[in-house]
Amino acid sequence: MPLPLSMVPDVLVIGAGHFGSAAALHLARSGLSVVVVDARLSAAGDSASGLGAITLQSRGYDPSLPLALTAVAYYAEFLSELDFDVEYRECGGLALIDSEADLEPRLAAVNLQRERYGIRLEFLDAAATREAEPSIGPEVFGSTFCAQEAHLNPLLLQRGLERACARAGVTTLAGERVVSITRTPAPLPDSAGASPETITFEITTHSGTRISTPVIVNCAGPGLAEVARLAGIDLDIRQGHTHMLATNAAPPTIRHLLSGCLQTVSGNILINSRLLFDPRDAEPGWRSIRSMLRKTLHRMPGLAGLELIRAWSGRRPYPADGQPVIGEVPGVRGFYIATAHAGTTLSPLSGKILAELITSGNTPVSIAPFSPQRLMATPKETAM
Ligand SMILES: Cc1cc2nc3c(=O)[nH]c(=O)nc-3n(C[C@H](O)[C@H](O)[C@H](O)COP(=O)(O)OP(=O)(O)OC[C@H]3O[C@@H](n4cnc5c(N)ncnc54)[C@H](O)[C@@H]3O)c2cc1C
Repeated sequence: MPLPLSMVPDVLVIGAGHFGSAAALHLARSGLSVVVVDARLSAAGDSASGLGAITLQSRGYDPSLPLALTAVAYYAEFLSELDFDVEYRECGGLALIDSEADLEPRLAAVNLQRERYGIRLEFLDAAATREAEPSIGPEVFGSTFCAQEAHLNPLLLQRGLERACARAGVTTLAGERVVSITRTPAPLPDSAGASPETITFEITTHSGTRISTPVIVNCAGPGLAEVARLAGIDLDIRQGHTHMLATNAAPPTIRHLLSGCLQTVSGNILINSRLLFDPRDAEPGWRSIRSMLRKTLHRMPGLAGLELIRAWSGRRPYPADGQPVIGEVPGVRGFYIATAHAGTTLSPLSGKILAELITSGNTPVSIAPFSPQRLMATPKETAM
């Protein structure tokens, strides 16, 4: 039987999805030694099951909008460095308005998004919407168009991140579930920098691998709260689900990212549901599938002849206030977390933020609204 591994990296990233891989990549490029550990053999978690929409409009005017704006602007630069085709299409997005009653609240949000945050948005009436997107039927009242929105293939993004991590020297341990985290009682002032005396965390996986490190980045997605609990940290994070449908490949039909719908480069049309919090919605049943199809066909009746080839569901961690979480856990020096329910959009920037935070203490954008502090039931000074 092989002896259990023992490793001493500068940083341990837990979770190899979009968030964990992007963080590992930026950290390794900053010159740190990085190990990524993931319970699965291949990170085919949420990150591989999403829609791939790079969105701004759907955020209303919540505090994450400036972060999302910076994240969207950063995407093209990030992908050029990734050097992997992830089927990124900067096609612009149309947020559909189904009825006249929906117009006023939507326009109020648009004005704020435009004036306060500088998002490039324009209102299109029914005729202009159909001119921009001929697949839209007569029942749609109008739309708002945002040229900055895009879509990509989330599975290819995952593969691209994994390859880039390997090239950057990241060590990935797949199929290793973290089962315990202990911390030496008195953390030293400098968490990064990995001289032996600064080691503060001892991590064990289910197979007995031991990792000692001064810095943990917890990007365990739906498992994030559980991993934090191993380190004595209680976080208030709900679990939601989103259902997805895919049709057979069709000729080019949809030009833009639409509300919860897009056409992939290979021609499949993907449709997603809203976020669902009832545990009975963990899997897409007929009720959900029917409702998604009814809504989509009401908006785009021309899709009626297509064949539904797949229905699936993915878990989405949802912090109590719906906002992303990025930062160091107060009172637990060296323990960082990053998650969001729309993480494909945010993860490349989040990785950059974490790397700068860990290496220099600074961040390229303000992350004060996203501090883990707000999710802690009772903020602890010494968590262990
Ligand atoms: C159906 C669906 C549609 C979506 N659509 C969009 C979209 O259009 N646009 C958008 O921006 N976002 C979208 N998202 C959200 C996006 O996919 C996620 O926010 C993002 O992929 C989360 O990445 P992650 O790295 O946090 O999590 P994950 O990809 O889930 O990765 C977490 C990893 O942690 C590992 N892990 C957990 N516990 C442990 C442990 N104890 N030890 C070791 N490893 C562990 C898991 O095995 C997993 O691989 C969608 C999500 C879903 C489900």
